[in-house]
Amino acid sequence: MSDAPILPGATLGVLGSGQLGRMFALAGRRLGYRVHVFSPDSDSPTGQVADREVVASYDDLHAIRAFARSVDVITFEFENVPAATAEAAAELVPVRPSGAALHVAQQRAREKGYLADHGFPVTPFARFESVDGLERALAAIGTPAILKTASFGYDGKGQVRVDSPEQAREAWLAMARPEAILERFIRFERELSVVAARGVGGWVVTYGAIENTHENHILDTSVLPSAVSPGVEQQAIEIARGIMEAMDVVGVLCVEFFQAPGGELLINELAPRPHNSGHLTIDASMTSQFEQQVRAICGLPPGSTDLLRPAAMANLLGDLWSGGEPDWPAALLLPGVHLHLYGKALPRPGRKMGHLTALASTPGDALALAVKARAALTLSG
Ligand code: AMP
Repeated sequence: MSDAPILPGATLGVLGSGQLGRMFALAGRRLGYRVHVFSPDSDSPTGQVADREVVASYDDLHAIRAFARSVDVITFEFENVPAATAEAAAELVPVRPSGAALHVAQQRAREKGYLADHGFPVTPFARFESVDGLERALAAIGTPAILKTASFGYDGKGQVRVDSPEQAREAWLAMARPEAILERFIRFERELSVVAARGVGGWVVTYGAIENTHENHILDTSVLPSAVSPGVEQQAIEIARGIMEAMDVVGVLCVEFFQAPGGELLINELAPRPHNSGHLTIDASMTSQFEQQVRAICGLPPGSTDLLRPAAMANLLGDLWSGGEPDWPAALLLPGVHLHLYGKALPRPGRKMGHLTALASTPGDALALAVKARAALTLSG
């Protein structure tokens, strides 16, 4: 397949139809592309803003081929698309990132093994799928540790902290999924992420290190720039760049790190797509992570990743709706606050419904403003 640029006016296809696809579609449409989304559900967050929403299962290879014939390039917003689906599409149209990159990032054990084999620093872990294997993992890693299912985990799903070998055994049995990893519990100083984009022909751009906090294993806030030293930030950026090149990713990839107390960086996980921690680039950077995704997969030049103003993002989970509809005007009243809602009808607890981005003169002020804006949503309720 040719590497000729795919120019505005062409049609972009996205597999997966959540908020990441929605923000990708908005960026694509702004650049004059048409966007088709392949979605397991109708009226999805992406479908609402796309030119066309094809509703079918990822296993329906007939539907995937028909979808691939209707677009000029395919990307993902959801990395758990089956390998056979990516392969069927790739016979007809460029798929970026490739199914091979997706395959690595689809499964924790495979991802961590790949990174370790390629010399990237990962959280110490052991993979197992039997009682004996668990005992060996416990001997190697110790407790406290985090037990994680090997596949299909995100936002803390399929992971549990274990403080003793007995707890680990019970938790593993309760998981009912034999293949798992035991990961050393890291008493990290901070969590960081680096979002990078790589285009056709190999250009790579990265944003600065973003500082993240999690609540119940779900991202809560992100701040850019982070408080990390310039040397550690540069290391994180070089690691992200190295992974992009090793995996030959064309598209956007996010690397999540723990910074250990000594300053050492350990990779927690990868996402071969735009990432929740990069949402603040929409309002705060010269070019958003979603526009970079469009540019990368279309064979266009990269956009500048310069930061316009210090920024913070606060996620809006379904829990905020427990007392009724949040008070949107109360947050929008605050200068420097932007509201992003994803068009989801049902505000289930823990479900990502939207986010707020706040811009200010310092990262600390931006974070305080984002948190204040979020609190204002429910003050009257
Ligand atoms: P994950 O789904 O693996 O990205 O984990 C979500 C969050 O859980 C991380 O961002 C951390 O806050 C926490 N977490 C996961 N693994 C570990 C670990 N090995 N040590 C300490 N905290 C962890």
